[in-house]
Amino acid sequence: MKKWECTVCGYIHEGEEPPDECPVCSADKSMFVEVVEKAGPETAATPEMTDPPQTAAPQTAMAKLYTTASALILKHHLHPIMVHTPNGIVPMALIFLLITAFLDQPLFETAALYSFVFVFLSMPLVLFTGYEVWQKRYRGAMTSIFKIKIGASAVTVLLLLALIIWRAVQPDIVTTPSTGRWVFLALALILVGAVGAAGHMGGKLVFGSRKN
Ligand SMILES: [Zn+2]
Repeated sequence: MKKWECTVCGYIHEGEEPPDECPVCSADKSMFVEVVEKAGPETAATPEMTDPPQTAAPQTAMAKLYTTASALILKHHLHPIMVHTPNGIVPMALIFLLITAFLDQPLFETAALYSFVFVFLSMPLVLFTGYEVWQKRYRGAMTSIFKIKIGASAVTVLLLLALIIWRAVQPDIVTTPSTGRWVFLALALILVGAVGAAGHMGGKLVFGSRKN
């Protein structure tokens, strides 16, 4: 039985032919390469990060900083760590807003606002670490899974900004019953969906290629 490795995400397929589409990252057939088993002790087929070629040319201070940051992001899995900010806090903020609306607890509304601001401020790091992993580990492949992640991230940033601005312009939007309040809550719900979608796809990429 031949083994085929997806060069985008590292998924291993067993069979005479590579699959038409990678079940993990949707890369097409042409992205698969045959894994040639080496004789001797089990050599791990999992593609580890290949070190970027060491350039002999002197780097500028900024380039050095970028290279170091990029290596640290990949080595220490900073993207999966950073995504806990939106994925953990945004659903909690929605719960706070619902408590405000249904149980008339305005303090929870303040907590939700601070939560949105905190998540918004963390987004540059979430996006930058995600971009680095996508470029370095997945070679910037534009398959459906990455399109969804990029789209969900854009929706997340825009909705956070919209909610924060709306709350700034109309401070009683959630504490006072109105139609606008339900629109505000609906947007917060869509926001939860967007961070959930990005997180789900990330989980699929990281865990989807593993055999349990
Ligand atoms: Zn793949």
